[in-house]
Amino acid sequence: MEARVSRAVIAVDLGGTNLRTALLSPGGEVLERRRQSTNASEGWSRVVARLIDDIHSQKQKALQKGLQVAAVGVGAPGVIQGEQGIVVKSPNFPDWNNLPLKKLLQERLAVPVVIENDANAAALGEQWRGAGQGIRSMILLTLGTGVGGGIILNNRIWQGADGMAGEIGHMTLYPEGRPCSCGNRGCLEMYASARGIVQSYHEALERESGSRAIGQQLTSEDVYEAARKGNRIALDVMRNMGKMLGIGIASLINIFNPERIVISGGVKEAWTLFINPLQEEVLVRAFEVPARRTEIVPSLLGDDAGIVGAAAVAWQAVQ
Ligand SMILES: [Zn+2]
Repeated sequence: MEARVSRAVIAVDLGGTNLRTALLSPGGEVLERRRQSTNASEGWSRVVARLIDDIHSQKQKALQKGLQVAAVGVGAPGVIQGEQGIVVKSPNFPDWNNLPLKKLLQERLAVPVVIENDANAAALGEQWRGAGQGIRSMILLTLGTGVGGGIILNNRIWQGADGMAGEIGHMTLYPEGRPCSCGNRGCLEMYASARGIVQSYHEALERESGSRAIGQQLTSEDVYEAARKGNRIALDVMRNMGKMLGIGIASLINIFNPERIVISGGVKEAWTLFINPLQEEVLVRAFEVPARRTEIVPSLLGDDAGIVGAAAVAWQAVQ
């Protein structure tokens, strides 16, 4: 028997490059989707105006399908105060300082709006419809340009006192390590992100040749490619990256004893190059029982994590 869907939510994935909106069913099925360039440089008021237009058009689509929009969920990058729905600051949106996004949207849309940090939302999305289905506690690490994180405990995002928990990428690995954009030194992000991998590769090349590496700007994909072809320096860089990530994950396992750790983001493409040293490090450093039980798996949602996560946040808010 086919279930009759009478409600839907609108999900927003507010990225630095793309502004995605979608209409989703209670089961997480994407019914409509729309994407446009974010053009963050135009300033916050224009971006918000275009976002409102897109949400309105999703609302129209819902009406045409006979669906009622229960809520709008927004996943946004940066420091988000979820409760108040304020974007405190965001690396992709330089002029968004303490922007009351929830208030701005709710005034125009007449539906409940929930704002969540994008990595937290993605974690809930993976737990709902992706690699964390059927489990209650998991941690998501997003390895992209930076390292994002989201902690799900008993089916809920662990928000922390200020809605700012889950910043796993800024766990200190080296007290005097590489300076990080957060103001700290030696953060996990500086070693396990795409940017960190490229930096490690450059440093290794310099050590090897005894001089500054010259030539074109390398990307993390170039490093994976070199490693797959058997380049010793690139292989070492990826093994070391797995080791660094394993040290961070061992601490997460000891603290949270999660059922699963899900790894997403572009670096996931290099999975086979870092997973073994990662696992070895976890087994050496974490307590044996939780270390053996925690499954470390790649994400399943890929590009849709943001949209599905924002929808999960919206559904939880109106349950
Ligand atoms: Zn940091």
